[in-house]
Amino acid sequence: MTASAMTALRSAMVAAVGPAYVTDEPGEHPGLRVTPGSAAEVAEVIRRTGELGATIHPIGARRRPVEASADDRERVFISTSRLDQVLQLDEHSLLVHTQVGLTGQALERILAPRGLSLGDYPPVVLASSIGGIIAVRTPGKSSARHGFFEDAVVGVSAVLADGRTVHTRVAPRRSTGPDLARVLCGSEGTIGFITSAVLRIHKVPEARLVGAYLLPSMEAAINAVYLALREEAAPSGIRIYDAAEAARHFSNLELAPDQVLMCAGTAGPTDLAACDRDLITSAVIAEGGWATDTGLAELWWRRLHEGEPTPAPLPTLQVMGTPTKLQVVYRAVIAEAARLGTSASAHISRFDPDGGLLFVTLGDEAQTATIEKVAAAAGGWLLGARATKLDGYLRSLRAVLDPRGIMNPGTLA
Ligand SMILES: Cc1cc2nc3c(=O)[nH]c(=O)nc-3n(C[C@H](O)[C@H](O)[C@H](O)COP(=O)(O)OP(=O)(O)OC[C@H]3O[C@@H](n4cnc5c(N)ncnc54)[C@H](O)[C@@H]3O)c2cc1C
Repeated sequence: MTASAMTALRSAMVAAVGPAYVTDEPGEHPGLRVTPGSAAEVAEVIRRTGELGATIHPIGARRRPVEASADDRERVFISTSRLDQVLQLDEHSLLVHTQVGLTGQALERILAPRGLSLGDYPPVVLASSIGGIIAVRTPGKSSARHGFFEDAVVGVSAVLADGRTVHTRVAPRRSTGPDLARVLCGSEGTIGFITSAVLRIHKVPEARLVGAYLLPSMEAAINAVYLALREEAAPSGIRIYDAAEAARHFSNLELAPDQVLMCAGTAGPTDLAACDRDLITSAVIAEGGWATDTGLAELWWRRLHEGEPTPAPLPTLQVMGTPTKLQVVYRAVIAEAARLGTSASAHISRFDPDGGLLFVTLGDEAQTATIEKVAAAAGGWLLGARATKLDGYLRSLRAVLDPRGIMNPGTLA
């Protein structure tokens, strides 16, 4: 782009949002960073950017570097940081209409004094902006108790490539016809720029219960989890530690080599929470396990939700496995680590009906890529893996909605 075209773009952005909110964005693929203060300003920025032939790159809490395209068009990075207002809270219907620049944690801080919550999603997920959480579908954004985060999305408002705004919630969810919000969930900024969302929320649970169990093997523990889930237990969290991981995380806990520790949390009205805990206990017993020191589960929960430090190092490898593949992937990863002569410890968590996430910490990080290949060959899905079979349809949709290819062109390419 020529200097005069760049000047025209900067002037157009300043006209849309004011000079205080247009800065230079450095980096490998530099551009302008624009921070609109309203959905109307987002629409104006996108409309003007498209007219001037530049590309749009939404940014939320920026937990992932933007995959800006390397083409020679000028880039406009649009930050959601000023879209940080709750627009409406309906405590009767348990719905919140929020702008997307708020992080999940910030929204939790607004909801908590009213006895409300987004739900039992992993705290690390809620460090992202609401826009980022909705725009990127990842296996960890779910809880057995509250489902996938996208299920909580009752409607979204988004700006399309030509500056038009779409609101998917114009009727209650029980109306008929296709749900366009689904297209925007997980579209990583390629279909539209999400400015606000209506989310299903929950009451803060009356009771939280935790339990710790020992089981004879990883297979038995995974079987117990799915036995309980098939019985419709809705735990707020479950984690299985293999013996090496248990020794790393809990001092003085020595398990037999094949044994595993399972920690589980349940929540809700006291009777329901107790019922869910009993379902999990029964499933553990059915798989040859037994209850152990609840203090272990209390420590697990405090580390997860109350900021108590988790022993370093952090996992080096994350793999998603379906219920039937989880144990196969776990065994393949551990066997490969042993073959390569590196230590490996693992835990599995974020269980839902689709599967769970295996987190592995390797003694030698340099072996990560080799072990990832083995995990994928065993049927695991690596962090960021995407089903690409429907890419033709996605490309057609993008071509219709965004013929100039300006919306996050380096993403889902
Ligand atoms: C492909 C991919 C896979 C990931 N997998 C995992 C995982 O398995 N586990 C995990 O813990 N983390 C994962 N992450 C990292 C991170 O947890 C998520 O991306 C998170 O949702 C990012 O939120 P954020 O607010 O930091 O957004 P950012 O990192 O700033 O943006 C993430 C993506 O969403 C787009 N985006 C942001 N806001 C909007 C908006 N308002 N409208 C439209 N598009 C928007 C951005 O352009 C970018 O493409 C993954 C990230 C990506 C991109």
